[in-house]
Amino acid sequence: MSELAYPYEAPASQALFDRAAAVTPGGVNSPVRAFRAVGGTPRFMVSGSGPYLTDADGREYVDLVCSWGPMILGHAHPEVIAAVQEAVARGTSFGTPAEGEVALAEAMVERVAPLEEVRLVSSGTEATMSAIRLARGFTQRTKVIKFAGCYHGHVDSLLAAAGSGVATFALPDTPGVTGAQASDTIVLPYNDLEAVHAAFAAHPGEIACVITEASPGNMGVVPPLPGFNQGLKDACAANGALFVSDEVMTGFRTSRAGWYGVEGVVPDLMTFGKVMGGGFPAAAFGGRADVMAHLAPAGPVYQAGTLSGNPVATAAGLAQLRLLDDAAYEKVDAVSAQIQGLVTEALAKEGVAHTLQTASNMFSVFFTDRPVRNYEDAKAQQSFRFTAFFHSLLSHGVYLPPSSFESWFVSTAHDERAVQRIADALPAAARAAAEATA
Ligand code: PLP
Repeated sequence: MSELAYPYEAPASQALFDRAAAVTPGGVNSPVRAFRAVGGTPRFMVSGSGPYLTDADGREYVDLVCSWGPMILGHAHPEVIAAVQEAVARGTSFGTPAEGEVALAEAMVERVAPLEEVRLVSSGTEATMSAIRLARGFTQRTKVIKFAGCYHGHVDSLLAAAGSGVATFALPDTPGVTGAQASDTIVLPYNDLEAVHAAFAAHPGEIACVITEASPGNMGVVPPLPGFNQGLKDACAANGALFVSDEVMTGFRTSRAGWYGVEGVVPDLMTFGKVMGGGFPAAAFGGRADVMAHLAPAGPVYQAGTLSGNPVATAAGLAQLRLLDDAAYEKVDAVSAQIQGLVTEALAKEGVAHTLQTASNMFSVFFTDRPVRNYEDAKAQQSFRFTAFFHSLLSHGVYLPPSSFESWFVSTAHDERAVQRIADALPAAARAAAEATA
């Protein structure tokens, strides 16, 4: 690996990781944080400010993860923090309705036209799980189509991504999910409308919904081909199924109205999380009022949550959404384009085969020279080059997602100083990628 700007050891993080491993499986509360895909010691962060994170060893990193999307205004934005402090001083949970949740729902409905009604929950997983239940309850059907490489949280029936092939019946991806739970899930290759039509033809009257990431970011960034989402919508409409667009990652990030705002395809149901919570556990699902009317207490499909619409989380989310005006998106898009340009330039200079893919301001680099249209393409990249690239950047104070199958995220706080840090770190990282061996 190339010369390192920082001492590479992270003794304080290592000590915390050792302590964590004694009381928490694998030492983390969400698997990808453990650095298993890239190796090394996960950094334990102690604070965040604007585009920077500071770890337990006192090192500062430019953050290109942004908490996996939510921190679109950067860390500890003063107005979000003020809203949280004001809310927290009034109490942390009431177990009753409160105005903040109404205001957040109104702000979401105002921005996203197909969202006629929303129900607030606490995680993206809950949002997709509830949307699937509602789609099944509404249509009185059981089967769900999802796409390989799309992640919708750790919902039992959606933790199935069987290999490529048309209309593969899903095998569970994890012990603990039963064959019965997975057998109602049909996993298809992403960006393949013919496979969708074939699945509808093979299961007439059985498919409750198609769920897709609005623009996938969980196999790296693999945007829908032109017409794909509209084709899904049309196939659903023609077959009496619901089209569920998972905007947990893209919602209020890829534009003011998320991916819907970019493409304009109208889903029946949508799911949200991340940005709308301002860094707190808030998420939502919503869509057509006639479908949402089937949800308890208005209708028979049960769904609930002790902390749903939590007053502190809704205050943070609302503060963040209010700050996300057109100028904010222009800023995020511009800094994203600037960093994309630097990455491409550095890798090209070292002759590293790569494909940089974007979905508005979300982007990721695949270490392959071919376009990546689905999960099989994504898996064909030279991930060992990413590992070298990642560790070189980390050692020079730039924090990338610790996997080559993740989107990179930037914020309005990524200023010239932060971009310069990335620009300075990239040549060595590109060299490390070029020199890497499998
Ligand atoms: N859907 C998508 C598209 C996601 O990216 C994620 C998480 O990354 C989820 C759902 C699950 O959200 P959560 O981690 O809040 O449960």
